[in-house]
Amino acid sequence: MVQDDVWQAILGELEISVTRPAYVTYFKNTALIKAENGQVIIGVNNPFVKETIEKKFNNLVLATLKKHGIEVSEVVYKMISARTQLLPEQEFIEEENAEEDPKSDESIANQNQQSPTLNERYTFDNFVVGDGNELAFAACQAVASQPGIKYNPLYLYGGVGIGKTHLIQAVGNDIQKRNPSAKILYIATEQFVREFVMALRARTTATFANHYRSADVLIVDDVQFLAGKDKIQEEFFHTFNTLHQANKQIIISSDKPPKDIAMLENRLKSRFAGGMSIDMQAPDYETRCAIIQTKAEANQVELESEVVEYLASSVTSNVRELEGALNQLLAWCDVRGIEPSVAIASSLLQVNKGRPKHLSAKQIIERTARHYQIPIDDLVGPKRDKDIVVPRQVAMYILHEELRLSYPKIAHELGRKDHTTAMHSVKKITQESQIDVSLRAAITEIKEQLYA
Ligand code: ADP
Ligand code: MG
Repeated sequence: MVQDDVWQAILGELEISVTRPAYVTYFKNTALIKAENGQVIIGVNNPFVKETIEKKFNNLVLATLKKHGIEVSEVVYKMISARTQLLPEQEFIEEENAEEDPKSDESIANQNQQSPTLNERYTFDNFVVGDGNELAFAACQAVASQPGIKYNPLYLYGGVGIGKTHLIQAVGNDIQKRNPSAKILYIATEQFVREFVMALRARTTATFANHYRSADVLIVDDVQFLAGKDKIQEEFFHTFNTLHQANKQIIISSDKPPKDIAMLENRLKSRFAGGMSIDMQAPDYETRCAIIQTKAEANQVELESEVVEYLASSVTSNVRELEGALNQLLAWCDVRGIEPSVAIASSLLQVNKGRPKHLSAKQIIERTARHYQIPIDDLVGPKRDKDIVVPRQVAMYILHEELRLSYPKIAHELGRKDHTTAMHSVKKITQESQIDVSLRAAITEIKEQLYA
């Protein structure tokens, strides 16, 4: 596709024109949909991104398009479905608007129950922003400055321990600081479920409902736990509608996008997806280093950079575990009055999980090639046969999973010029390994050998 090549070239240029986080956040997942008779349509997959590009980067985009010989009188940014990222060969699917009629008119009584509380520890200030969480952070700040106005609900999703709870609570804390009288309710979904069951037994569901429906801001953590609980979903649906109609901000976190939560009513899925959904990723290596440094500083400890780097490359997918590893190291050294070192960190980590050492990109590529019994040169070379392409994608996936390398770096390691190839490969393997048992087994086996 010629158009796609031109867009890749333009992206390449944008990448060096703006900061790396800005590129990753705003441009990485865009596509050129159409360029005809001066009208250029650019696909973006998130309303927040759309707005920011329009406001901040439109001139840059115009100039860059022109520089690449594209005649342009007008640029339109259009929302496209994120699905297209998984299926690059497909046409872009326009976002459908699955609205239903809200139907709740229950009265709101201001009854004060004991509020679930926000943890003051979670603030924007002590959240380290980087690749993987930048967009979520920006969206949370936008919501905190104008709650209930634009992005409602705000829905953050992603894996375990990557900062979802921290960020959604930071929104609550920030709004509370600006507006001390605002009624901000934070609730873990499991607690919501427990309270509801108790209310059913005690026949106090009206009080329960009124409590949540009187919030100015409702923050619901780990909403995937509503799955399969029909009665509670019904209750939650009405709470949601009441708040939403009154322009009260709703913030939700989950481990997956709304459409992927099994046994969740469709009307809730469509409500959840009706505001802004943001995919949070585990932070990349640089961000992990920054997180460790920040947390060490908060403990008034200065860590040598080798120790920081060692921790950041050993604990890759979960910030909570990363924090745990650091705390354990600091505590161990504190008790003994010694300086933290790589040797101590490594012995503590090995005791924890028997998972040693730094893995290098080279090791991952070698292991993958060996597993599939193909020469390394083929894996990193130009061949496009299926029995090479799949192992190459697997190698990219493992580089992403285990080392959290950036897509351009992953592409580079495998001799590709275009970082979108790496992006598509990682997404494809992520998706397919969920359904393809043999693929999953291959990945597990390669990883086990890597850590053996
Ligand atoms: P999740 O809700 O996604 O499972 P949490 O928000 O509970 O994850 O985060 C786990 C721990 O990691 C918390 O202590 C949180 O403060 C910390 N954390 C996560 N991401 C960051 C970050 N970017 N900067 C600072 N701390 C972070
Ligand atoms: Mg959480």
